[in-house]
Amino acid sequence: MSNRSLNLDDRLYAYLQNVSLREPAVLAALRAETAALPMAVMQISPEQGQFMALLLKLTGARRCLEIGTFTGYSALVCALALPADGRLVALDISEEWTAIARRYWAEAGVADRIDLRLGVAGQTLRQLIAEGLGGSFDFIFIDADKAGYDDYLEQGHKLLRAGGLMVLDNVLWSGKVADPSVHDTDTDALRALNQKLHIDPRFDLSMLPVGDGLTLARKRA
Ligand code: CA
Repeated sequence: MSNRSLNLDDRLYAYLQNVSLREPAVLAALRAETAALPMAVMQISPEQGQFMALLLKLTGARRCLEIGTFTGYSALVCALALPADGRLVALDISEEWTAIARRYWAEAGVADRIDLRLGVAGQTLRQLIAEGLGGSFDFIFIDADKAGYDDYLEQGHKLLRAGGLMVLDNVLWSGKVADPSVHDTDTDALRALNQKLHIDPRFDLSMLPVGDGLTLARKRA
């Protein structure tokens, strides 16, 4: 018995997946295609996707925003979890990766729920605010360039409604955030972000050792 999060060895991780995953075939196919790409590690795990789908349903989210879409796995998770009139605005910079995403969103029949916007995320977020979408999102998932997280947090806070949930991926960064000998742009950015959120009175907070570390931050009124 342990009262702290377990280290999952391969056998226990496989067990967890075997007894809990309910991954739809279209998501499994997208994951398999993405796994063959050199940047495959950027894709979230299927159990993390299933957890996020549950969060979306628990919170009754209808308006979602994703910063960092890659080949579209988390966006598809989100679109499948939303009600039929739900909408996801998905931000990415890569035409090549999101072309794969679009193919699977169409195959799953949810392409009409996803508004993909290609460009520099910081600019697109300001554009969304300029469009009058401040305070309108129920759920925001941040999973993009780590040096940009602080700006995405700040713009995301403007776009999130009070009571809405922000989810930030990779906050434990393979453990590097806890290693004082590591100083690179991404690690330092994540470290600073974690420290900022720890005392940020604008959010209720929980950091989970799910995947590469997942922070849940609920916007207070
Ligand atoms: Ca990630």
